[in-house]
Amino acid sequence: MTQFDSVEFADADLIVVGAGFYGMTIAERAASEGFKVVVLDKRDHIGGNAYSYVDSATGIEIHKYGPHVFHTNSEQIFAYLSKFTEWTPYEQRTWSLSKGRIYPLPINLATISLFNGRVMSPAEARAWVAETAREITEPRNLEEKAISLIGRPLYETFVKGYTLKQWQTDPRDLPAEIITRLPVRFNYDNRYFNDVYQCLPRDGYTPLFAKMCATRKIAVHLGVDWFDLPDHREPPAPVVYTGPIDRYFEFRFGVLGWRTVDLELETHEVDDFQGCPVMNYADADIPWTRISEFKHFHPQRAYGPRTVIAREFSRFAGEKDDPYYPINLVEDKARYNSYRELAREEKTVFFGGRLGTYRYLDMHQAIGAALSAWEKHLRPHLANGAPLELREAG
Ligand SMILES: Cc1cc2nc3c(=O)[nH]c(=O)nc-3n(C[C@H](O)[C@H](O)[C@H](O)COP(=O)(O)OP(=O)(O)OC[C@H]3O[C@@H](n4cnc5c(N)ncnc54)[C@H](O)[C@@H]3O)c2cc1C
Repeated sequence: MTQFDSVEFADADLIVVGAGFYGMTIAERAASEGFKVVVLDKRDHIGGNAYSYVDSATGIEIHKYGPHVFHTNSEQIFAYLSKFTEWTPYEQRTWSLSKGRIYPLPINLATISLFNGRVMSPAEARAWVAETAREITEPRNLEEKAISLIGRPLYETFVKGYTLKQWQTDPRDLPAEIITRLPVRFNYDNRYFNDVYQCLPRDGYTPLFAKMCATRKIAVHLGVDWFDLPDHREPPAPVVYTGPIDRYFEFRFGVLGWRTVDLELETHEVDDFQGCPVMNYADADIPWTRISEFKHFHPQRAYGPRTVIAREFSRFAGEKDDPYYPINLVEDKARYNSYRELAREEKTVFFGGRLGTYRYLDMHQAIGAALSAWEKHLRPHLANGAPLELREAG
């Protein structure tokens, strides 16, 4: 299938480029109201970055693009996704290894007490952080901004080395605007997220996606790059495009900056490698940023005696890399605004998702944005021919 003259394309009411959470939510909603949808993805699987698979050697579910934990405060989004999966309750708790010692993250009262080697009350810890943060009043770079938020001791222990590895740049050479806040809790709550709903799909992410498109109204084509279709500039139906917005416009205003992550998988002949799902490595002299051990995400499953881990290495994304996190420097924002102006002029193409709108989106945010775009823009367009006035998904 490389031409629009295939039966499905000729018949389609809507074409969705990208089978991640954004694209699949739009496709599912459209199909549920009787519209015929063609979904295509250049990868050989559905699920976008939330895709997971079962490792054939160990039977362990691996999150191919890094660990994904579902969390949301929205009852509507949770109810929507619950139509396609049962859930396993799961609350993420992360640990950080710094200078040979283990601390809980996000920074909380236990972290601060451990760091200071004595039990501190919430008020004492708060006063200590405020005191250590006082040295900087007008931050000029990321390092100074971080110190002004959490003080030098916590910055140097938990943020400095990690940031250096993530950005491959000295934090003193990074703009202050990259961070607006660094979470510090003055209680013993060490949950990574504090949303009402925190869980994992009981049978894995990919079965969830498979259920979303398990209808004859949705035709899925994998391994197809939209831009390889000869007629992609004249599609036979409206398009929801969830790929990179700069690529859509042939990089006319330049490339938007992204960071990517290299994951190195290892199978170990031990039952338990690190004793927790995610361990962060805060020191600059350890090249990886964190290690995930996938079997710990599902302690209820009867996994065998071996384990699979993923070491993560962060770096700037090149042209051929998967874009993971938008860098969002001032020049990126200006560039994106120019692309957005072009996007508004497109007659029947709707830009959505994290790549289409150059934003970091958690899964629930991608789903929420898609549900809202469907209600406000796409359904009125398909049902009544209402103009697609806003062509950038909210
Ligand atoms: C390392 C990492 C960890 C994360 N952890 C969490 C977490 O714990 N919890 C959470 O809520 N969120 C997490 N996220 C965020 C989550 O991955 C996103 O919310 C989600 O992927 C957004 O869905 P999307 O559909 O917008 O984009 P994507 O999932 O990226 O889907 C876009 C799809 O479009 C396809 N595509 C692009 N260009 C083309 C083209 N030209 N032709 C055809 N197909 C194309 C891509 O192949 C891709 O499959 C994490 C993200 C990363 C990077």
